[in-house]
Amino acid sequence: MAAYTTDDEQIIGKQFSELLASCNKICKNESDWEMINKAFFLAKEAHKGVRRRSGEPYILHPIAVAKIVVSEEGLGVKSTCAALLHDVVEDTSYTVEDIENLFGPQVASMVDGLTKVAAALNEDVSAQAETFRKILLTLSDDIRVIIIKIADRLHNMRTLGSMPRHKQIKITSETMYLFAPLAYRLGLYAIKTELEDLSLKYMYPEEYAAIEAKMAATAAERNEFINRFISPIREKLSQAGIDFTISGRVKTVYSIWSKMQRKKIPFEEIYDLFAIRIIFKPNNYAPEKAQCWHIYSLLTDIYTPKPDRIRDWVSFPKANGYEALHATFMRPDGIWAEVQIRSERMDEIAERGFAAHWKYKQNHDDEDEFDKWLKDVRNALNHPTGNAADFLENVKMTLYMTEMVIFTPRGEARKFPVGATALDFAYDIHTNVGNTAIGAKINHKIESIYTKLNSGDQVQILTAETAHPNIEWLDHVATMKAKQAIITYLKRVRQNNIERGISIFENRMREFGITPSARLFRKLLPAYDCKNKDEFYSKLGSEIINLNDIDTILRQNSKNKILKFWTFEFAGNKPKDVVVRHSHDVDNLGGPKFVAAECCNPIPGDNITGYRDPRSGDIIVHKTDCQELITLAAQKGENLVGNIKWSTYKAESYLSEIKIRGIDRIGILQDLAQVITVELDINIRELHIQSHDGIFEGKISLYVPDTESLYSLISRVNTIKGIDKVERV
Ligand code: MN
Repeated sequence: MAAYTTDDEQIIGKQFSELLASCNKICKNESDWEMINKAFFLAKEAHKGVRRRSGEPYILHPIAVAKIVVSEEGLGVKSTCAALLHDVVEDTSYTVEDIENLFGPQVASMVDGLTKVAAALNEDVSAQAETFRKILLTLSDDIRVIIIKIADRLHNMRTLGSMPRHKQIKITSETMYLFAPLAYRLGLYAIKTELEDLSLKYMYPEEYAAIEAKMAATAAERNEFINRFISPIREKLSQAGIDFTISGRVKTVYSIWSKMQRKKIPFEEIYDLFAIRIIFKPNNYAPEKAQCWHIYSLLTDIYTPKPDRIRDWVSFPKANGYEALHATFMRPDGIWAEVQIRSERMDEIAERGFAAHWKYKQNHDDEDEFDKWLKDVRNALNHPTGNAADFLENVKMTLYMTEMVIFTPRGEARKFPVGATALDFAYDIHTNVGNTAIGAKINHKIESIYTKLNSGDQVQILTAETAHPNIEWLDHVATMKAKQAIITYLKRVRQNNIERGISIFENRMREFGITPSARLFRKLLPAYDCKNKDEFYSKLGSEIINLNDIDTILRQNSKNKILKFWTFEFAGNKPKDVVVRHSHDVDNLGGPKFVAAECCNPIPGDNITGYRDPRSGDIIVHKTDCQELITLAAQKGENLVGNIKWSTYKAESYLSEIKIRGIDRIGILQDLAQVITVELDINIRELHIQSHDGIFEGKISLYVPDTESLYSLISRVNTIKGIDKVERV
């Protein structure tokens, strides 16, 4: 591998010293500097001879990512090292253990996380949602991994021009779908804005260029206008002794483009192409919040404010930590202009997001909005319900949500996404409050729990011990937390119901002497309008359906389709001699009904014993050696009816089943059919054959007059070449 050329060394040296310059504020001692140098030299050595698609040495990429991590995201020394090393394990022969030995466990685990994220993104899977789920999983380990990954993505977007078109599209769509929303959620506004802007540039290059050109054409005029708007403000605030900076921020191409899309208007009809931002150094005499409002009131002396357009993110910071006071004023040309008022601290949080937020956080044990969100995401990741796509939709929903503030009866403010209902509020208070909610007092008026809330509402939840969630609730909640809680509850209830259903069903079937079989369910499920056994059991357990009609259902089916039941008839009133006929041939003469047991399916010639169904009074006829009957005899011996026997009256035929097994040879099926239907003249009702690895196994349902015919059939079939085993089921 070629070492670095002199030119390479020069440009690498220059970029690295720039990185070092920005590390001045994070390196506290010699060992911090040493660590960053060590990471740089290891990465440089590991990536040597490798070039990016643009032709520049690969090492320039990790240096650039580290620089973003320090100066645009405000992370510390360990994160900077992880950024320098982020592609080392993925792309070179170094392992995570190597990193751990040299840099300690924290850097190593970040590099490990970054390697996993890279691997997830490289997988050529169609399920993008699953990929993103894997990426979000790193959130549960160390949030810095995602922040460094965002820096990596930002640098890749900045240098996307040298990539082939299909790569540009893949990377851009991932950026729009996940990384920009995540950057927003982590409070990295500047990065989120840049990611969106770059995405647009590669997605719709022509539209992007057109807007850019129009912006350039109107720039001079706009700058002059901004200066004219600003200068009286500058004067007023200076007079008041405020230490501040003021600037006009021109909107990005992306935000203009999305407004044109949203409102379906041309560029020329967009007036708010800029916003004014005032950043002040707070004095020691009043809280920052009061100083924000003081500046606002000074502005109202100059321009007319629009009172309904005040956004007070100072009293109620956004869930991503954003704080500022936004107000709208009338411009001299009669158009409204937005002014953002922030302290220096608020500004740093707004630009750097998460890291700055932590830096200023007084008490790290305090749980704020950001921590709550993170906890919700982690919770959802740890208890996956539904599929990955649903999950991602839920998380994404919380990434970009606009918030509103809702008050508890005691005046405590809680934040919710727009669209949240009283039910969301109930679950936010406590899962138990949500699970037992029956209504809500919204601004002292009783309303349904489905009612959508408006910012500023005061809500009190009404509960009842007996209330509980149902599946419809899922359509009336907007927060991840509420959804999660309802699904968890429903799952638990369903499981309980299934268990209860199974036991109800099995008890009932035992009384009938029937062993539940696949065939039985094929008959029962349509009759009870259930798609599968789980649904059947769950409905049974929750008393949506009952088994009151089950004997009718079973008999109706058997009358129409198969000969499964017989009617036995007493000669006289004493159980002495039994006449057997098909059910459709006979009127019941008032005696008990005889029913052939499903489990052992007796036919004339079999040794039989009866069991009196205590509920219906029917007598279930089992083969005497039937296992099911033996169980019943042990439990409820008093219901046994011993003295029954087959009548001499012979019905035409009885359904029976045989199991066969043999070697799968060509023509065996024809031979089988030939012997049974032609030679023995027996009707086959169903034939199931499965063949695997040269062996075939099958079941044949057929109509036989009695056991004698059945056993002679079995022995005849046994003689067919290739048949190995034949037995009665
Ligand atoms: Mn990278």
